[in-house]
Amino acid sequence: MARMNARQAPWSGNTLSWKQLEAGNDFASLGSRFAVPTASEPLAAPYLVASSPAAASLLGLDHGQLSDPDALAILAGNERFAGSQPVASVYSGHQFGVWAGQLGDGRALLLGDFASPDGGRLELQLKGAGLTPFSRMGDGRAVLRSSIREFLCSEAMAALGIPTTRALAVVGADLPVFRETVETAAVVSRLAPSFLRFGHFEHFYRTGQHQELRRLADYLIARFLPHLRDEPQPYQAMLVEVVCRTARLVAHWQSVGFCHGVMNTDNMSMLGLTIDYGPFGFLDGFDAHHICNHSDSGGRYSYANQPAVAEWNCYCLAQSLVPLLGSVDEAKDALQQFRPAFEDAFRARFQAKLGLREQRDADDELLDGLFGVLHQGRVDFTLFFRRLAEVRSNDSSGDSPARDLFADRESFDAWVQRYRARLMAEASEDASRRAAMNAVNPKYVLRNHLAEQAIRLARGSDERHRLQLGVAQATESLASGQDFGEVTRLLRVLSKPFDEQPEFEQYAQLPPDWASTLSVSCSS
Ligand code: AMP
Ligand code: MG
Repeated sequence: MARMNARQAPWSGNTLSWKQLEAGNDFASLGSRFAVPTASEPLAAPYLVASSPAAASLLGLDHGQLSDPDALAILAGNERFAGSQPVASVYSGHQFGVWAGQLGDGRALLLGDFASPDGGRLELQLKGAGLTPFSRMGDGRAVLRSSIREFLCSEAMAALGIPTTRALAVVGADLPVFRETVETAAVVSRLAPSFLRFGHFEHFYRTGQHQELRRLADYLIARFLPHLRDEPQPYQAMLVEVVCRTARLVAHWQSVGFCHGVMNTDNMSMLGLTIDYGPFGFLDGFDAHHICNHSDSGGRYSYANQPAVAEWNCYCLAQSLVPLLGSVDEAKDALQQFRPAFEDAFRARFQAKLGLREQRDADDELLDGLFGVLHQGRVDFTLFFRRLAEVRSNDSSGDSPARDLFADRESFDAWVQRYRARLMAEASEDASRRAAMNAVNPKYVLRNHLAEQAIRLARGSDERHRLQLGVAQATESLASGQDFGEVTRLLRVLSKPFDEQPEFEQYAQLPPDWASTLSVSCSS
């Protein structure tokens, strides 16, 4: 079949073959100050670990096609899509509150942009496809463990309705990769309208490249925020948009107990997407100060700190836009929008989680009281809100599912009395409230232990054997003993997080005791 023009959507309602995909190179066309042409490093004998049907459909593909050896070769970085000019981009950033200087796509390659059936275009990146000009001390690779985590969480977040980069597939290979121990290589293919980060803008500001700074802002506005072009101050409007999206994103994270783990400015998306899944975690027992990243000893990125850190990151972005804004006051005005945007979104999310139709003055106190008892009892965050839907407004007969989560039942009883009074005050109707709550309080989230189980099976028994043998034999194939079924099963469960899925009840349960020793660090 003849190749389609890169700017033309190559289908008419039906799914297409991946061979028909043709890359555009919009971002690369900005030139080498932004995007450096970079070849991927081939990966011997790649195998498909998992693919996402929902993400594949964003490209008009059927995910079954991704196991085709030719598709696999592209997703491993061994072959190229027609028209693709892979590039790595330069950015900088603040890491753990400190200016880190130049970073860049150290292990991500942008393959290009592709038409999506919805009429937009999506960029496709390979993460872990080898060295780039920005790899610094790194090896350009990603390990199977962290790639499975990124794959599952991207798709789980999307199913929760949370803005995020998407993951098309994970491809593995036997190539040994050295982290704390020797692991094996994998490549995640990820999709987003744009992977631009706060750090891209910080880079051009800090290096005094103000013309490039303007070009990048113009690019972002033209491609992704075209409605702002005619604003009297488009750069300020762009900043306001990013600030508000970021605030709403973090409110959404808080509402499902998601902790990002590494909210450095280079991991903050200009489109308000969740990006760069590393040592993330979902709260199990509610601890407001939970730190999911083992490397974050100071707790800078704890659950409770996420909103303040997001705001701080917006300050870094705003600072870097001052040359375009003309004055610091313009930046400050835009930043004023963060708190109200966050508070409105946060209130609305938790109002819905509590099943309240109306917003009332004392609701903040009711919510604070709830956080207090949840924190005190380290009550499971996801299970609590799901079970709260069973509470009835005029008697205690539906209390026990939520109540049983508390060792200190009295603390629950005292709070639920207030909650019941609040429900009565708006004449809440039990059945419709339950349905509404179950549509916003997920039953299934990617708890650490669930990801860990899938990873252990995917790594296979041979890997444990190989680790004992040591590095000398590490290049031997370890193809047998690997079981990717759990990755796919988990993806399926998490793609319907609000549905009752009786056959998967065990995925909704409290973490087992062994999970308390799991630790996730920046190493990936
Ligand atoms: P992260 O903490 O994962 O957001 O990474 C921070 C920076 O280090 C980014 O610029 C990454 O591209 C880069 N990086 C992380 N791991 C590697 C690696 N294995 N090889 C090359 N660059 C890496
Ligand atoms: Mg990163």
